[in-house]
Amino acid sequence: MKLLRDKVQQDGIVLSNQVLKVDSFLNHQMDPVLMQEIGKEFASRFAAENITKVLTIESSGIAPAIMTALEIKVPLIFARKQKSLTLRDDIFTEKVYSFTKQETNEITVSKKFMDASDHVLIIDDFLANGEAAFGLARVVEQAGASVAGIGIAIEKAFQPGGAKLKEAGYRLESLVRIAGLEDGEVQFAEADEV
Ligand code: 5GP
Repeated sequence: MKLLRDKVQQDGIVLSNQVLKVDSFLNHQMDPVLMQEIGKEFASRFAAENITKVLTIESSGIAPAIMTALEIKVPLIFARKQKSLTLRDDIFTEKVYSFTKQETNEITVSKKFMDASDHVLIIDDFLANGEAAFGLARVVEQAGASVAGIGIAIEKAFQPGGAKLKEAGYRLESLVRIAGLEDGEVQFAEADEV
């Protein structure tokens, strides 16, 4: 998606060979027009699916996910993150190791909001090792619901998440794919060079 790629090029800050900071338009300050375009793009890519819910993880997935849900006209659920949890039978829980915080969180979704009749589109801001996306997919599967696909704003294609998700059989749609973050610069994957 050219608009997002241009924004990453202009305003993304390479923190290390592994981490890109996008706090001026996605992770702290948010660009609502760009978020709306992202929502339209995901809605169009998954238009053939009969999606009933959009699912993301708090907090930075919420902006692209709500705009996607708005376009598709279905509810958005964001999984909550908690450090540790006492056993409860009214929630689905999964463990997710956080790439940026380097800690394991329990993610939770209330059983009230998802059941076997749902066809769920998972949305997140970044894809690195796939921990968050796999955790969300496991929540959907716990509910007996199906995963329509996974939509990612920025995939770091040099990390293994994308390959692992595809190998597991999920449909993955990434709007921008980054091939590397060497020498303080963003290298984009060739397929996105438009
Ligand atoms: P994964 O679970 O795929 O290993 O990592 C994805 C999650 O970690 C995303 O939810 C995102 O919040 C965070 N993340 C991973 N890599 C980056 C990065 O380079 N920059 C930012 N801002 N967040 C990242």
